[in-house]
Amino acid sequence: MTRCPHWRRVPPGLADEARARTASGCVDAAVQCQLAASHAGSEHYGFLDETDRGTALRLRWSGADQVSLATRTDCPGTGPLPHRDACCLFAGHLGRHTWEDSPPVEPPTHD
Ligand SMILES: [Zn+2]
Ligand SMILES: [Zn+2]
Repeated sequence: MTRCPHWRRVPPGLADEARARTASGCVDAAVQCQLAASHAGSEHYGFLDETDRGTALRLRWSGADQVSLATRTDCPGTGPLPHRDACCLFAGHLGRHTWEDSPPVEPPTHD
């Protein structure tokens, strides 16, 4: 998939809080939005670190000064066999899973 090109510097106060809450205690100074490109009108989400198995702390932002931490469980969507790639996003995310790199040739036949 084409990834959203937005980056966000992690504000120092939130970085300190994130370090205290994540497993590794390491948080990047800036994160790139993980969502697929063109999710206009919704918030951006960048990955900070795992907090627990299946749960991760993310930076959520929209606009210049709307930024906060968000704990989200991992997306349960996995790719097709044989690889069954895990999606790097969170449950309920917008757009495509991260393992979906191109639009399907045929429309989906389920639901
Ligand atoms: Zn984004
Ligand atoms: Zn997903």
